[in-house]
Amino acid sequence: MHASLSMRWLRCVVAAACVVLAPQLYAQSVALTFDDGPNLGATPRLSPQERNAAMLAALAKHRIKAALFVTAGYGADRPEGWRLARAWGQAGHVIGNHTMTHPDLDSEQVSLAQYQREVLYCDRLIATLPGYRKWFRFTYLREGNTQEKRDGMRIFLRQLGYRNAYVTLDTSDWRLNDKLVEVLEKNPQAGDAELEPIRQAYLGHIRQRALAYRALAQRLQGRDIPQVLLLHHNLINALWLDDLIRQFKQMGWSITTPADAYADPVYQLMPDRAAPGQSLLLSMGRSLGLSTADLGIRLMDDGDAEIEALKAQGL
Ligand SMILES: [Zn+2]
Repeated sequence: MHASLSMRWLRCVVAAACVVLAPQLYAQSVALTFDDGPNLGATPRLSPQERNAAMLAALAKHRIKAALFVTAGYGADRPEGWRLARAWGQAGHVIGNHTMTHPDLDSEQVSLAQYQREVLYCDRLIATLPGYRKWFRFTYLREGNTQEKRDGMRIFLRQLGYRNAYVTLDTSDWRLNDKLVEVLEKNPQAGDAELEPIRQAYLGHIRQRALAYRALAQRLQGRDIPQVLLLHHNLINALWLDDLIRQFKQMGWSITTPADAYADPVYQLMPDRAAPGQSLLLSMGRSLGLSTADLGIRLMDDGDAEIEALKAQGL
């Protein structure tokens, strides 16, 4: 082999090895998922159809495939809501199951049998939608307050061929959405400048959670994992999802599909805890005996810091 050629070959091998050994050369990735949709409830701005179209437009603009976890009683059990869900499937997004009426499996009033019926009824409504996959998202990310419920659901999902569609990057977008709706109800004419602090709080909140969950994944798994982000089918995402996606790109994160994220072996884990739930990463941490203080209260405080900061600004 010619000397310079072999040097070039060697440099290629070294470069390839560096790519493999240097994880910072890879972008952290995140998949986007939306719960509680489609929602036909009224909001101070945008109709349900406009909200649905706005979220789909932001995803299409960035060529992102996401997942919608349907709570059928919020709209998909009626023709006009079912059409909104179908639009997600037709655009190439996955349609998953998030029960009929959003009961809380950790509630003593909700039995295992009742919760399983909720899953089956929702399944019947969504099974003919394009994009349908047997993916189940636990409501409130709570997997049962007793071992009977927890194990009962694990067996039930396995028998149905359903996957637990875990979240790792849990956010409180819903809390900031409540604040946005409250401000718009008080001041329907509010312009961009008046809403800007809420937009900033929403972006800042999700950025903080993203960085904290990335750090937690590195701590628990010794590596970056493809994160699964939880958002909701609501007004705040209809207005600012495009900004959120641009923020992830500015952070150097790439956007992956939920199916590719779930292919990572971390999503096969079933943390051994009495009452599993919340982010899979928190659940893993707790199953290792880490306390709330160890894990960081700001991963589970429902966005209290952002809400307090907005109140201090008179919102
Ligand atoms: Zn939900």
